[in-house]
Amino acid sequence: MKVTVIGFWGAYPELGEATSSYLFEKDGFRLLVDCGSGALAQLPKYIDPYDLDAVILSHYHHDHKADLGVLQYQMLVQNSIRKQEKVLPIYGHQQDKTEFNQLTHNYTKAVAYNPEESITIGPFSITFMATDHPVRCYAMRITDGEKVVVYTADSSFKQEFVSFSEHADLLITDCNFYEGQDGKAAGHMNSKECAKIADQADVNTLVLSHHPHFGERDQLVTEAERYFSGRTLLAYSGFIWE
Ligand SMILES: [Zn+2]
Ligand SMILES: [Zn+2]
Repeated sequence: MKVTVIGFWGAYPELGEATSSYLFEKDGFRLLVDCGSGALAQLPKYIDPYDLDAVILSHYHHDHKADLGVLQYQMLVQNSIRKQEKVLPIYGHQQDKTEFNQLTHNYTKAVAYNPEESITIGPFSITFMATDHPVRCYAMRITDGEKVVVYTADSSFKQEFVSFSEHADLLITDCNFYEGQDGKAAGHMNSKECAKIADQADVNTLVLSHHPHFGERDQLVTEAERYFSGRTLLAYSGFIWE
């Protein structure tokens, strides 16, 4: 499978970039994991957004779903131009009914995932873990049967991430703080916590994402490398893993 970082900022996007959004591809199937602010402007660098096969959301904070509305308009306009009636499924949890219901539009359809069970979306099988965050949010363990990618979504540190991430080929973490800073109240992790999960879970590659808007972000990698000896990278627009 191929994973492309579409957006990696927390909270809001910096110039020409986007907040949390990741494209998973396998055998021509295209799954967008979270759809943050700026995602629709970034996607055409990699694929035609109309060619998305499914979208799945970890939670309903704006930096993970801000571009859903314009994605829905894109489906409406492009179906009209192309004289087609393609419907895009958008998977979300149902713990917030108001937010969940907004996933349905003219040509998008809300589909509930049960976080207690794994689901299959195209070639991908996904299991979930509830995170520690101000609103209900789910981490995802995504596999195509060959490789495993774990996305922590938004969360403060939880020991359960270690077993959830065990032996993952790629771990994408919420790294919104520097070592020594406490992200618990905000519901985010720091660089050391991300690295501890990567180390204890014995993952292959760690990608630090959901970046803070302060400090020298390269330092996040330097800090993480003190606790994790595997490959550690800072997420950036267009980073591709396969
Ligand atoms: Zn976020
Ligand atoms: Zn959040």
